[in-house]
Amino acid sequence: MSNNNNELTLGAPLSGPVLTLDSVPDEVFASGAMGDGVAIDPLNDCLHAPCDGVIIHVARTGHALTIRAENGAELLMHIGIDTVALNGEGFALRVKQGERVSQGQVLVQFDLDCIARQCKSLVSPIILTNGEHFELRVLDLKTVKVGEPLLQIAPRSVAPLQTAVDNSLVHASTSVRVNHRGGLHARPAALVRKTALGFSSESQVHLGDKSAACDSLIGLMGLGIGEGDEVRVSCRGKDAEAALHALVAVLSVAGNAAHPAPVAVAPRRANTEADVLQGVCAAPGLVCGPLLRLAAIELPADPGNHRADEQQQRLDAALEQVRGEIRTTLEHARQRQQVEEEEIFAAHLALLEDPALLDAATTAIEHGSAATHAWRDAIQAQCAVLQALGKPLFAERANDLRDLQQRVLRALLGEAWHVELPAGAIVSAHELTPSDLLQLSAQQVAGICMAEGGATSHVAILARGKGLPCVVALGADVLAVPQGQRVVLDATHARLELAPSDARHAEVHRIRDALTLHRQQQHAQAQGPAITADGVRIEVAANVASSAEAQLAFDNGADGVGLLRTEFLFVDRHTAPDEQEQRQAYQAVLDAMGDKSVIIRTIDVGGDKQLDYLPLPVEANPVLGLRGIRLAQVRPDLLDQQLRALLQVSPLHRCRILLPMVSEVDELLQIRRRLDGLCAELQLSQRPELGVMIEVPAAALMAEQLAQHADFLSIGTNDLSQYTLAMDRDHAGLAARVDALHPALLRLIAQTCSGAAKHGRWVGVCGALASDPLATPVLIGLGVSELSVSPPQIGEIKDRVRHLDAAQCQQLSQALLDLSSAKAVRQACHHHWPLS
Ligand code: PEP
Ligand code: MG
Repeated sequence: MSNNNNELTLGAPLSGPVLTLDSVPDEVFASGAMGDGVAIDPLNDCLHAPCDGVIIHVARTGHALTIRAENGAELLMHIGIDTVALNGEGFALRVKQGERVSQGQVLVQFDLDCIARQCKSLVSPIILTNGEHFELRVLDLKTVKVGEPLLQIAPRSVAPLQTAVDNSLVHASTSVRVNHRGGLHARPAALVRKTALGFSSESQVHLGDKSAACDSLIGLMGLGIGEGDEVRVSCRGKDAEAALHALVAVLSVAGNAAHPAPVAVAPRRANTEADVLQGVCAAPGLVCGPLLRLAAIELPADPGNHRADEQQQRLDAALEQVRGEIRTTLEHARQRQQVEEEEIFAAHLALLEDPALLDAATTAIEHGSAATHAWRDAIQAQCAVLQALGKPLFAERANDLRDLQQRVLRALLGEAWHVELPAGAIVSAHELTPSDLLQLSAQQVAGICMAEGGATSHVAILARGKGLPCVVALGADVLAVPQGQRVVLDATHARLELAPSDARHAEVHRIRDALTLHRQQQHAQAQGPAITADGVRIEVAANVASSAEAQLAFDNGADGVGLLRTEFLFVDRHTAPDEQEQRQAYQAVLDAMGDKSVIIRTIDVGGDKQLDYLPLPVEANPVLGLRGIRLAQVRPDLLDQQLRALLQVSPLHRCRILLPMVSEVDELLQIRRRLDGLCAELQLSQRPELGVMIEVPAAALMAEQLAQHADFLSIGTNDLSQYTLAMDRDHAGLAARVDALHPALLRLIAQTCSGAAKHGRWVGVCGALASDPLATPVLIGLGVSELSVSPPQIGEIKDRVRHLDAAQCQQLSQALLDLSSAKAVRQACHHHWPLS
């Protein structure tokens, strides 16, 4: 079609009657929230390119794509309404994202019958999504055939963003796949809300025919967006583009990197053993003690007819009190760097400010309700919405709302939260809330049992973090157990034994005492070196993310820091830390480690870790995109600044620099040269050691060449597993298979060690495999001489090393390379080197 002075005439991508947008049977499209455009009710079964251009977005499910024309106009073509629900069925994509196409080219073939049978409508909107830069004129409103002129698009003569025209009309929208594990539940929703509040534009998220304002946490959760769902985000206002960019980044990031590894859950099964209740393990452990039940606050019937202003004041005061309490909890969590706890209570704070809740309570008060009842009813209405979504994760989030119900009721009723608990009690409840759990943990309870709840709930996350044995989903029977009855909670096996014999009781005490003693002994010996029975010294260092963790590692006997993840300094803020702030943070870690060395990894963002102030292009495959050292390609200034900060710590010889995601020798050489240049600028005579992470198969295969120029190599088994096995390391469904003891990984580790040995370089492991005691003999046997582990495990891994014979490890581990699976390797390890 013609392209005159950047004015473009678009050919019809489909054949059929042309409709105005307001006749599209979908509120979001019909309201123009997505942008201006037309719709076609298709009679053919192929979507064609309306112009020459590049396909800039393709929905995973094939039902929609966006083309950028040569003049920059971007057009979303959406086949049918609610067709995302078909999950790809009936759509055959003929192009890929990023592909250049010519006008008339077939983009998608679709099955008209299949869509017509299963979806709301075949009407297909064609939307100009960057209407702030272009004007659109519809040429024909009757019926078109593919390729016939349909729309005319011309650049706006003056960009609206630079004029005094009403900027509030600027709108931007796009679709994005939600990658948060488990969907858009409370914490990611809180993040979306926080992001949206940073802009003046009004933003909305749309899923199918439902929409929610981004400033309403409840609205967002109420959409029931699941992991992998495709949503549209639309922003309207002065900073619509920027808001859209930020929201897309937040929604598409695969969240909860901070989650602990999922705990193996025992499926709920019938109680086949007498006097044993079977549930689901939320946090492992074995304890015994008296079982005590906690009950929720019940309100008496409300006589009504209260004075609205008085009740509103009471509610406001109670809300403010609870907000204050949560802020204090948040502050403590921040100081202790308890990221999960912090996120959970940040979400609670956001819920307490949610217009959906506050408006509902205010309306009830205006109708004469008491503040207590108005608040309870507002919460319960929202709980019902979440429960009705029929998704377990969202139903679990209703528990967060119940938590706030209880807290605000306690504040309103002036009831101090205090329950007398005998030492070592096991607490049972219908479902505990996160703040209950914190209180109980502070009161030294021994374990938790819940009738309801799930292993992915916030309470479960907190219980795991606190090492508090916890079983959920035990059923209502647990509430009928008489107060104070002596029980055994075997959380590891998800069992509550209601009538343990004296012998069983004594056995549980024995097991616990033996375990405690063993841990104490390991801890007591943790300060000494880890030397194998045949005299090989293995450095057992720690993985840390802050100076507080470094201090813990030092106290636990770490021989050094094997990996400082510097991302901690860069995330959760609006501007990058400057050179001075970085220098101080790195120095604090060095200071915490006495005279031991500290390996500091340069920033590894990109992939799943995004920074607000570092907009990177939205990537189709973020973990294969600009992350780790590749960031230096686009932001060399950032890396320069970090290197300069690192070069100013003292003493410099205790600082070693580690480069993430290196895949070729040139990347290392380039940074080496840059480091030399900076040393010269800073007039340093000494240069810190420079190491390379081996976390990409290419790096392991090239270890020999890399070792020629690197001072040491450190294997990141987390990413090395992901990239070698082609399995997302955060994929819940593949979690059990992403096992770094896979023989393919062992071969890469062996190759890394032999390559390094040719140049006399040492090899460490800083991925999670280093913290797995079953793997210790294998890694030593393959030639690894440093293990960087999580701080609480230093004593355990040192103890393991001391009981091994390095020569025997070397001899036996070679044969493991020829086994057929990770499972076979694990079995062989148990056989050769049983765990104590
Ligand atoms: C690894 O990939 O094993 C590693 C240690 O780095 P991270 O977990 O930070 O990606
Ligand atoms: Mg890594």
